[in-house]
Amino acid sequence: MTLHLPLSQSYTALGPRFFHAQEADPVAAPELLLLNEPLAQELGLDPEALKSPEGVALLSGNAPPAQHSPIAQVYAGHQFGGWSPQLGDGRALLLGDIETPNGTFDLQLKGSGRTPFSRSGDGRAWLGPVLREYIVSEAMHALGVPTTRALAAVATGETVRREGPLPGAILTRVAASHIRVGTFQYFAARNDAEALEALAAFALHRHYPEADGPMGLLAAVVQAQAQLVAHWMSLGFIHGVMNTDNMAISGQTIDYGPCAFIDRYHPQTVYSSIDRMGRYAYDQQANIAGWNLAQLASALLPVMGGEEAIPEATACVNTFRDSYQAAYLARFGAKLGLATPTPDDLPLITELLELMAQEEADFTNTFRALSEGHNPLPESLPFATWHAKWQARAPSEDVMLRANPAIIPRNHRIEEAIQAAVSGDLGPSARLIKALATPFDPPEGTEDLRLPPAPHEEVQATFCGT
Ligand code: AMP
Ligand code: MG
Repeated sequence: MTLHLPLSQSYTALGPRFFHAQEADPVAAPELLLLNEPLAQELGLDPEALKSPEGVALLSGNAPPAQHSPIAQVYAGHQFGGWSPQLGDGRALLLGDIETPNGTFDLQLKGSGRTPFSRSGDGRAWLGPVLREYIVSEAMHALGVPTTRALAAVATGETVRREGPLPGAILTRVAASHIRVGTFQYFAARNDAEALEALAAFALHRHYPEADGPMGLLAAVVQAQAQLVAHWMSLGFIHGVMNTDNMAISGQTIDYGPCAFIDRYHPQTVYSSIDRMGRYAYDQQANIAGWNLAQLASALLPVMGGEEAIPEATACVNTFRDSYQAAYLARFGAKLGLATPTPDDLPLITELLELMAQEEADFTNTFRALSEGHNPLPESLPFATWHAKWQARAPSEDVMLRANPAIIPRNHRIEEAIQAAVSGDLGPSARLIKALATPFDPPEGTEDLRLPPAPHEEVQATFCGT
């Protein structure tokens, strides 16, 4: 069976400063672990052909696309607030982009070997983070959150050294593009206005064709990020590494590392083992997004008219706060069954969240129980008072059931799926992926996936696993 793969490599038109042409390092014994057939079909690719030896060779990097070389993209970024002038795809390769009725999408291999941007890394990934990204990004998509997606996971048949020897794997990621805030920062740091201009034009054409010029691009990204982060918050999602190189210009969630969904609610929750200061804690995400957008504005300044554009660019970045707050109110209002919440409803939201924090209530299950007509919190005067006030707003059950998922990818379930996969059993991963495909309408027999972790199952920290 031949694989028909109508790939272009549009990004190379930007010129050689933007990438390094790089073949993947072949792997010993590629084996297809997971294939996202619905996504393959959306991309116009034949799932059967992707499963064939030719398809698996492509998805493992053992055979490059026929048309052109893969590339590693350059970028820079602020990592935990510190400036890194040279990052780039250190373990990823862009195979190319594909046009679909729903737009153009990048196909990228992650874990495909070293590139000039690997620094001390081995260019590889192990099965754990590959499965985590596959499961969580597909769950986010099903939850309606803009996100990169997972087309396939392939075992390499090779060992990767991390804490110990671990099975290697490669993820095929599908993204609207892989342009990051840090991609603009890379060229700004090199005073390369020509590159900034070209990159802005490329990003506008790909993502925001209705927007005009670099200032229009900035405004569009500000709006997209305000919507995105409010959506994360409404689902209890913590990205975990909101470095500027991990913020996509497209407005899609990108780079799932030590991300996690909150179980027991506390606003300052951090899971990432590398985030010791809580910079990327749950309740910091909007602040950090605003900070990252200010970095984007300053990177774009040379092509927005220089210093004269500072007031307009500042005003543009400052619209983030209001847009975020409006999006937050709409999302959390819907969680409480209010289709058109007003700022007067904010206390209803914050009071409930305060009660949840006091009770260490499960974030997802509290809202879902309210949607299903149960009282999720212990009876108390404050809860009864809140409940009466809420009922007086005549919440819509329909609105709630569409805003409050029953199933989210819980940390302990992901860990369990990874452990099983390491021992060769993909059953738990497949079961989780299937249940997470309809998170608002949980399939029969998945009640266990709705349960919070028992004390001994609780995951305290998540790891980047790079
Ligand atoms: P991340 O923390 O995954 O966003 O990665 C930050 C930077 O480190 C990016 O430039 C990655 O390409 C690079 N990187 C992460 N892991 C590896 C690895 N195992 N080998 C080479 N480069 C890596
Ligand atoms: Mg990254």
